[in-house]
Amino acid sequence: THFGFETVPEEEKAKRVYKVFENVAQKYDIMNDAMSLGIHRLWKDTLLHAMHPQPGARLLDVAGGTGDIAFRFLEYIRSQQERQKRRAMRSMQTPSWQEISNNYSTEDEDGPQESRAVVCDINKEMLKVGKQKADSLGISAGLSWVVGDAEELPFDDDQFDIYTIAFGIRNVTHIDQALQEALRVLKPGGRFMCLEFSKVTNPVLARLYDAYSFQMIPVLGEVIAGDWKSYQYLVESIRKFPDQVRKMSPQFCPCYFGRGYDFISVLRLSHDYHTLF
Ligand code: SAM
Repeated sequence: THFGFETVPEEEKAKRVYKVFENVAQKYDIMNDAMSLGIHRLWKDTLLHAMHPQPGARLLDVAGGTGDIAFRFLEYIRSQQERQKRRAMRSMQTPSWQEISNNYSTEDEDGPQESRAVVCDINKEMLKVGKQKADSLGISAGLSWVVGDAEELPFDDDQFDIYTIAFGIRNVTHIDQALQEALRVLKPGGRFMCLEFSKVTNPVLARLYDAYSFQMIPVLGEVIAGDWKSYQYLVESIRKFPDQVRKMSPQFCPCYFGRGYDFISVLRLSHDYHTLF
């Protein structure tokens, strides 16, 4: 079954993807909750637990859309700092080795660095909605919004400790190019973390998921966002993306949950990363 997007030539894909996210931007967050029954929040939380960022870390969240990963990153670090402060106050002891090494890793010759999250997305509308959300949540310190293409990032080399791309990589036309850019902007030893859909492996769940995604998701798209086609694209793009078997390699530490609905990969970028795709 296909809905017309599958046959889109490569040079058309970026334009189509832009239109899809321009159309859905205002309803993007509400649709995520509706389609996943709120489960996307747990997937994103899981990514943050796997990341376990320390104060001072610099994050680049590519295809960051309305900022969910960056908000969680800043919140995670804030709670880490609070915890460290509380622990130090309570015990009034010398800091643990963990804390000492954390402090070292967050300082350079110019003194302590602030944690920072940069949300980068090709789509201005998505970023606009994200900024509004940040304002209403009162999040501004350490956060910036940059329009940019994953395939040609507007950043210098060796800038970030962590690069994330959540539900974004399947929308990129040349994944190889995006990975090369990730490697370029990451500091040596930096981490690349990709959160993306995979294939449902349990046959019973797979049938349920098929029925749900083909029949319900476009309907939800039409009812909530008034946009059937964009949600057809969504279903198709998930289906077209390589499954977990093709994605797996010794470099990946795959972490399945939700019975194979989803996939978090954490990998230290190495020069043979392109063999992954
Ligand atoms: N990461 C966010 C999240 O998890 O909620 C948003 C994910 S949304 C499904 C995919 C995002 O990828 C859209 O905001 C879209 O504009 C962005 N995108 C698509 N192609 C891109 C590209 N080449 N470079 C940067 N962002 C891109």
